[in-house]
Parts: sequence; C-alpha cells; structure tokens
Amino acid sequence: MTKTQGYAAKSATSPMESFDFERKELGPHDIQIEILYCGICHSDLHVVRNEWKNTIYPVVPGHEILGKVVKIGNQVNSFQIGDRAAIGCIINSCRNCPNCQEGLEQYCQNEFMLVFNSKDKEGNVNYGGFSKLINVDESYALHVPKKFADKDLPRVAPLLCAGITTYSPLRHWKVGKGSKVGIVGLGGLGHMAVKLAHAMGAHVVLFTTSPNKIEDAKRLGADEVIISKNTGEMKKHAASFDFILNTVAAPHNLDVFLELLKRDRTMCLVGLPAEPHPALNVGNLIFLRRDLAGSVIGGIKETQELLDFCADQNVMADVEIIPIQKINEGFDRMLKNDVKYRFVIDMSSLK
Ligand SMILES: [Zn+2]
Ligand SMILES: [Zn+2]
Repeated sequence: MTKTQGYAAKSATSPMESFDFERKELGPHDIQIEILYCGICHSDLHVVRNEWKNTIYPVVPGHEILGKVVKIGNQVNSFQIGDRAAIGCIINSCRNCPNCQEGLEQYCQNEFMLVFNSKDKEGNVNYGGFSKLINVDESYALHVPKKFADKDLPRVAPLLCAGITTYSPLRHWKVGKGSKVGIVGLGGLGHMAVKLAHAMGAHVVLFTTSPNKIEDAKRLGADEVIISKNTGEMKKHAASFDFILNTVAAPHNLDVFLELLKRDRTMCLVGLPAEPHPALNVGNLIFLRRDLAGSVIGGIKETQELLDFCADQNVMADVEIIPIQKINEGFDRMLKNDVKYRFVIDMSSLK
C-alpha cells in the first residue's frame, strides 16, 4: 500500500476537503502515476452532489488525469518510469464482449469500470484524480505525445473527457473538409467541439443563446455564430447541415436544430440532462429521414488517436489553472458558467 492524499466530499452537502487514503500495491500490469494536473468536469460535480443517486462517500472525483509514471509493475511493457501518462473516465472493462473487442470499451456490455465512484474486483472503492498518486492497468492508460511541451500539459488534461466526448461523434459521423457542422452550446464540451471540428477542416457554425459569446466563438474556430433564439436567422439555415453536435445538458427544444439538418443527416446529443427534453416533432425526423443519436466519451484506442491528432494540430483546451484549495469555489463558478472553458487543478498545490 502507498499512502497518498487527495480531496474528497464526505456527503452530498459537505464541501471538498483534504483526505488521506492508500493506493493498493501495483499488480504486474499496473503503472503508478504522479498526477500533475486534473481537469474539472461537470460530471465530477454531479457525483459529488449525488445528483445521479449512486455516489459512494467519501468520493474523490477527477477523470481528466495527466501526470508522469513513477512506478511500474513487473510485466508492464508500454510505459517506463518517467514517461508522461494520462487517464480518462475508463480504467477497466470486460475485454471480451463484442464492443470491447472493437475497442469501444465505453459501450462494454458488461459495464466498464469508472476511474472514481466505482468498485474494483475486490470491492474496494476507486478514488479519482483529485489526488497525488493513482494506479492504473497499462492497457487503460494513454500516452501523452512528446509534441506537447511541459507548459502545455494543463491544457491537455481536458482532452481526456471534454475532448474525447466531442471527438468521437465528430469522427463517427465523418466530419471533415466540405462538411457544414453545427455545434450547440459553448461550454467545456462545446469549446472543444468547435476547435476539433475546425481542425478537421469543417465549416463550423456555433449556436448559442448569449450574444456575448460571438467573438470568443470565432476566436476558437467558428466560421459563423448563430443566436439560436433568433428564428429568422435559424430559418435561413433550414435543411443545410451535414451534422449537428449538441453539447447542451439542460432540457431544450430539439426541433429548432433538427429542422436545420439535410436529408439523412444526424444530430448527436452528448449532454445528459437531469430531466428529459421536451417531446419532439417526429415529422422533423420522418420527412427528411433524419436521425437523432447520442454518444458517450470514446474507447481507449480512439482517445489515443485524439491525443495524437491534437498534438499534430496543436489543439488544446482553454483553461483556468487553480490550486486544489480553490476547488469549492471552482465548482460554484462552474455552475454559473463562469469559466473559460475548463478549470484544471495544479496538483503541486496539494501538500
Ligand atoms: Zn467528464
Ligand atoms: Zn466489454
């Protein structure tokens, strides 16, 4: 066992506070990572506040984990001590079902294991990345490309959730040169989607409800910005989109976006609202054979592909770096959308 330190919530209403715990002995295929940076995602807060009614307390969140390898098991062959390594949401899966066999561990038919708020095979609770040290099976760890400079690393961490959540559907629906792509919402996910779709060569249109985001969206790579409440503006784009990636996690009218798709094209949802969206007009699907779909994170192989793509294209998140002592304030500000566009914890602040 290795003693380590993190930040945990002890109940749905208690603040995050310092928490001492132990990481278990390394298995033969495990690596131990000293965490340098960890991004803060909305789902960390959902779990801390028990909004999905499945939280095991105390909970140490954090699933955008980036650091360096400090110890390796005796059969590890893809990492060496001193290498950079990263971990996202998934740290294990059955490895045998058809989805795992295809590298789509996020759709494992026997349930994948999350990096936190889950239990290992012996029934011990897994603690996440708001901590100094973490262990992971090398098959579920990512390599951080050398092209990223050390100073870039805080901006790389959010690729592990916000990045892959948007990259995977953009790839699945074959976004590229010549596609007109809509991104709905400019938060943590939306800002990555704009950057990635732009880097893939698409014509990117951002939909937002706030006029004060227009300039920023263009800086991030949007070719056009549409205020989605402006019906006249929306009508001009009817049946013209090849793909729409909807990142908004609050219930809203889906019809106004479905109407913008060409025949046989898809809108994919990646935000998970606590309450259902209002019922949609099925006519918008039927008359142009449109699809409405959903997608969750990405598999290990695809997450590696994303990291390599972002290193080549120089794509990283826009972040605000905070010490771990400011985590509660960070959560509060995140709820007010007062962050551009991701908080990342500098783990050297944890002493
Ligand atoms: Zn996340
Ligand atoms: Zn599986």
